[in-house]
Amino acid sequence: MARKVALARAIIPQTEKCIKCNNCMTICPLAAPTSWGTETFVQLTRFPHLLTYDPLFYCFYCQLCPDVCPMNIDVPRAVEEMKERFNREERGRLINFLLSQADLMTRMGSRTDPVSNILLRFPLARAFLEKTVGIDRRRDFPEFERQTFRQWFSRRSQEIAPASSGRIQISSTTEESSQAAQPREVTGQGVERPSAGATQPSREREDHDKAPPWAKKPFVGIANTQPAAPLPSKDLKVAYFVGCFADRCDPQLAQTLVKILEQNGIEVIVPEQKCCGLPQLAYGRTQDFHKNAGFNLKVLSQAVREGYQIVTACDSCALALKREYPHFLPTEEARVVAGRSFEICEYLLMLRYEGKLALDLKEVPLRVTHKTPCHAIAQGTQQAGLRLVDLVPGLTRVEIQDNCCGIGGTFGFKHESFDISMKIGERLFREIEKAEVDRVITTCPTCKLQIEQGTGIQTIHPLELLSTAYWVE
Ligand code: SF4
Ligand code: SF4
Ligand code: SF4
Repeated sequence: MARKVALARAIIPQTEKCIKCNNCMTICPLAAPTSWGTETFVQLTRFPHLLTYDPLFYCFYCQLCPDVCPMNIDVPRAVEEMKERFNREERGRLINFLLSQADLMTRMGSRTDPVSNILLRFPLARAFLEKTVGIDRRRDFPEFERQTFRQWFSRRSQEIAPASSGRIQISSTTEESSQAAQPREVTGQGVERPSAGATQPSREREDHDKAPPWAKKPFVGIANTQPAAPLPSKDLKVAYFVGCFADRCDPQLAQTLVKILEQNGIEVIVPEQKCCGLPQLAYGRTQDFHKNAGFNLKVLSQAVREGYQIVTACDSCALALKREYPHFLPTEEARVVAGRSFEICEYLLMLRYEGKLALDLKEVPLRVTHKTPCHAIAQGTQQAGLRLVDLVPGLTRVEIQDNCCGIGGTFGFKHESFDISMKIGERLFREIEKAEVDRVITTCPTCKLQIEQGTGIQTIHPLELLSTAYWVE
């Protein structure tokens, strides 16, 4: 039953600036298939007695709307603040709590593999999940992997050579020890959370935009216009922020990332880490987000001080490191980490423009198209995956009209929003089918799930394409 939500007062100064220009409704993925959307959320903040539970949790924090608002209203963070208030005062639903705990859910799935994967294939088990928890029975799940990436990396590091100087911990051999280990200097000291009214999103973006030089250079063409061999790059070293999904559901992709970086002479370490916390923000679990962000910032800022750049292969993790951490924990640590964090395609292109990326690539005769995830658009790296794909010779890349796929992180997993999610994705699915491609390329792991479910076409990360061109085994 719909319940009334008490309004978080801090958002009022922002939302009152709304001039009803409707710009945000042209970009909000919810606007077409539902009667909700950015402007509706904004207007409803003026009439809190009308605001109910259901529409509040429709906003899936894609972060597309702040960029088009002439009044600089940060609607997703304002809605997040209302969700937090709701969770605190009204006790949130079980489904929202579970989906906010990506770390816990993927760890459980991984540890119980193969039972988890087998069970999730049975219609009866799916129906049970839908009835009890609220996860739609029609949703395709990712496969959980018993051997996580971090276990693989840790074992391999011990077999080959010590991967780090010992100053920064790498992943432990077991998940348990990994969870128990603490970084140095974790004090648990909280930082005052700024109100939504005090946000400065454009400032955060400007800070990061100073970092990637490739973004300011013209894209000149395909791979073979550059020297075949990489320049010596012994000075380059990266700390890999893996994220829960790649660690337990796609360890092969994470391994590919390590092999590609090592192929280019770059030292890779995997520091201790927790979930980036973005799913927690999307479901209004702000305190949980703060805990994870605080832990990650301690470890990652130490890595940066020791000369490491931070890379991740997940757009949502990258968004958290670059924009959400400095916003919610506005400390020097957060600013330092944000300035040195890169989505992996962005990082490899940066190397390419510095002449440090190996470009002796084999031809890959595939017909592909590319889907840009919303969280890549939100952090300004929408061209990165595309440009990396264009380095691979032999590809035929078909341009399509890009649209949101609709999965919205885990929004499309819920029984109450599965149909909306598929409706949002409909336009993209039809575009992809018209393109008649062998593969779809995207940098977002949940976009991959949704596109494969909506079209039946195999969807891969740009790194997988690059590794094929490199013949990385
Ligand atoms: S964050 Fe996304 S879903 Fe939420 S209001 Fe903005 S555009 Fe709509
Ligand atoms: S774009 Fe901004 S000002 Fe325009 S309707 Fe949306 S929230 Fe209001
Ligand atoms: S799943 Fe991908 S396309 Fe969909 S909202 Fe998230 S980032 Fe955007």
